[in-house]
Formats: sequence, C-alpha cells, structure tokens
Amino acid sequence: MEKILVIGAGGQLGSELTKALSDQFGGESVIATDLQTSVSSKFDYCRFQTLDVMDSASLNTLVKHENITQIYHLAAVLSAVGEKKPLFAWQLNMDSLLSILEIAKEQKLDKVYWPSSIAVFGSNTPKTNTPQYCVKEPKTIYGISKQAGERWCEYYFDKYGVDVRSLRYPGLIGYKSLPGGGTTDYAVDIYHKALAGETFECFLQKDTLLPMMYMPDAIKATLDLMNAPREAVKIRSSYNLSAMSFTPEDIYQSILKHVPDFKIEYKPDFRQSIADSWPDSIDDQCARQDWGWNPDFGLEEMTKDILENLPGYFG
Ligand code: NAD
Repeated sequence: MEKILVIGAGGQLGSELTKALSDQFGGESVIATDLQTSVSSKFDYCRFQTLDVMDSASLNTLVKHENITQIYHLAAVLSAVGEKKPLFAWQLNMDSLLSILEIAKEQKLDKVYWPSSIAVFGSNTPKTNTPQYCVKEPKTIYGISKQAGERWCEYYFDKYGVDVRSLRYPGLIGYKSLPGGGTTDYAVDIYHKALAGETFECFLQKDTLLPMMYMPDAIKATLDLMNAPREAVKIRSSYNLSAMSFTPEDIYQSILKHVPDFKIEYKPDFRQSIADSWPDSIDDQCARQDWGWNPDFGLEEMTKDILENLPGYFG
C-alpha cells in the first residue's frame, strides 16, 4: 500500500494536490504536513501534522514510523519573497531538497515529487517556445535554487536510482487558496478584486507575456507524471510544461466580458524585472511524448470557471 507524505501541503499547490492524492489513494494513505499549524483546518479528509522540513531528524523519524513510500515536497520560498531574503531562500529550498533525497535513498522510497519552475530560465534563454534543453542563467535566487535542485534530482536518480520526478510549472492560477509570494500572483489576485468590485492595481506592465496554467491542469500533470511507468519518465531533471500564455491586459479583457465595470491600473514594481527575465512561452513536446501531457484549460475557460466558482468557495 502506498503511504504518501505531502510537505508544504497548506500552500497554493498543496491545498489542491493533497486533496487529489487523497481522492486517488484514500485519505488514510495521505499525511499532510506544513510549518503552519493554522492550515490544519483544510485537511478534514486526511491526517495533518505540523512539520518543519528543515528539522531533518523529525522528518526522517516520521518517514520511518509511518512507512512512507512517496514524498511530495512542496515547501519553498518563491521568487518575489526570495529576492527579499536570498540566503534564507537558498537554505530552505536547497537543504530541504537534499535531506529528502537522502531520506529517499536511505529508506528506499518508491517515488519523490519536487516541483521546479520556469524561473530556471533567464535573459539569455530563447524567450519564445523555450526548449527543454537550452541556456539557463537564472537571475533570481529562486531560479538559481530550482536550477541547482534539478541537477541534484538528476544526480540522485543517476547515482542512486532514486525515482524522483519533476515539472517546471509556469505561473499557477487557482481560486481555492491565495498565492505564496511569486511573480505571477497577480493572475490570482485579479479575480478576487474583480468580484469584490475593486480597482485592481497590477504590479506588472500590461504587455508582460508569461506562461501560465490553471490549477486543475497542474494537478492533472502532476498525477499523470507520478502515475507514469518508471521507464516512461526519461527526464530526471525537470520537464517543461505548458498550457497558455497571456499578459495582464489579456486576463483583464477576459474578465471584462463577465464584469463590465472592472477597472485596472498598472503600477509595475521590482517583480517586473523578474518577469522580464522569464520566457513568454514554453515548448513541452517532451512531456507530451513521454507521458501523454495535454492541457484542458485556456484563458477564457479558466476565467469563466473561476468567476463561477470563487464566490461560492470563499462565501
Ligand atoms: P506556497 O508558498 O503557497 O506554499 C508553500 C507552503 O510551504 C506553505 O504552506 C508554507 O507554510 C510551507 N512551508 C514553508 N516553509 C516550510 C517549512 N520550513 N517546513 C514545512 N513547510 C513549510 O507555494 P506554492 O505556490 O504552493 O508552491 C509549491 C511548490 O511549487 C514550490 O516548490 C514552488 O516553487 C513550486 N511552484 C509554484 C508555482 C506557482 O505559481 N505557485 C510555480 C512554479 C513552481
């Protein structure tokens, strides 16, 4: 029987991925953990335990005592917050990954999931249809930590056979939780402001084109990759993954069709230069070929779905 540990389960991705894992494996097979005890109320369908991923001794004991077979490691400092606390971001993002890879090796876990990001790319990367393999010179500490993490994942697979799998997510957009300090957070916040009848102040310029993905697609991709046979997963650093690309003006126009009085103001801040160093679209042919990736949602479908469901969710 699989026994799954989700670390950083209370965040934007974890809140939805933990539910999907419980639906697949049964709530009794999943343990949700997070540094913040306050998120425990999200997990009435599986066990929750407070855990600091930096406490590797407690993590090691938990994995051993609970006979954990798979770890989903989602705890990280994201791009915008990382620029404010670079040394802390490096320490959390790297040390936690290394201790989990070591535990996976020593305790012979079945699988590990660790997300990477389009932040691994940089200004010298081809910006349009960014290929799987290309120059990567990330400018943020977040991107540098994800790039190094990808190398460590491949290393543990090659040297020790650890079955670690990873996706380079674009900006993730969901309505079930608030984002955690990334450069694409505006694309979540904008829906909340539209429904609250408030003017939205956008921290990126109106024509900033970025790769994005609706959360149900991100969850589907993650489960598809993790359920794929070991030999189908040919890339052990991290897979490019794509669904759509849009600018703040595009998402504003798509919301206007449903909320005609909605207003936006553009006030770019330090996150503009981070966004400018990232690709505007991603080539994900390898994910499509190796394990059958195919997204379901574009911008208009996503906007309709969020505007229909968000009020009931937070209401
Ligand atoms: P988030 O910030 O919303 O959630 C992270 C969670 O980790 C939080 O609940 C936080 O309390 C927890 N955490 C922080 N420090 C911890 C610690 N020491 N021990 C245990 N838990 C701790 O982040 P997210 O958006 O859910 O991102 C999850 C993963 O996906 C990250 O690795 C991130 O880099 C990656 N990713 C996210 C996006 C995105 O757009 N959200 C895009 C690309 C990649």
